[in-house]
Amino acid sequence: MSRRAAPRHALRVLSLDLDDTLWDVAPVIQGAEQALRDWLGQHCPRVTARYSPHGMRALRDRLNREHPERAHDLSWMRVRTLQIALEDCGYALSLAEDAFEVFLAARNRVSLHPDVLPALDALKRRYTLVALTNGNADLERIGLDRYFNHYLSARGVGAAKPDLRMFEAVGEATGHAPSEVLHVGDDPVRDVVGAARAGMVTAWVNRRGDPWPGDHPPPDTRVGDLLALTGWLFRAASQAR
Ligand SMILES: [Mg+2]
Repeated sequence: MSRRAAPRHALRVLSLDLDDTLWDVAPVIQGAEQALRDWLGQHCPRVTARYSPHGMRALRDRLNREHPERAHDLSWMRVRTLQIALEDCGYALSLAEDAFEVFLAARNRVSLHPDVLPALDALKRRYTLVALTNGNADLERIGLDRYFNHYLSARGVGAAKPDLRMFEAVGEATGHAPSEVLHVGDDPVRDVVGAARAGMVTAWVNRRGDPWPGDHPPPDTRVGDLLALTGWLFRAASQAR
């Protein structure tokens, strides 16, 4: 399938993925799960005695299978998992919210890649910026809310990328056509393939230098970090003048 991207100088909106695009998410989730486990061990020790980390994971996987209609809502999955474990061990269900808050606080202690703040500083002067995430990162807690005009999550939209509804939500929030939107993300399918299907221009943020998976149409541009993306965009803008 070949597709002609809209010219770069026509872009008005950047929608940005968060996890693994602005920070590495695996160590963050690992730290948050450990913080949660420490809290449970202290406040609800029968839960940690009965459920190993693997056991909690299996419980969440089971919920995922039983509730495909909530699969996009990671926060619901985690709270519901905690409720089931707490109830099973004879604790009050209300403790699930306290426990989840411990998880969330740690989940939002991310280490931004060093290119992120200088790039966002430059990009926000020229574009409407939209955060478009399948996860539950909180821009305010992270201190990034001042860069973004809109925050759209799978939880709020009711579907997860690469579902078209996520990308349509960008148009609804900003009033711009898909051809005026550049979607920026690390995931070849959820970000690049999904956004291309929605008619957006696509940028693949490939921080690890991975090969592009050959069975998918390639992105309009591939960059190693967000400053490289800024260079690509601003060169186009100056050429258009
Ligand atoms: Mg990502």
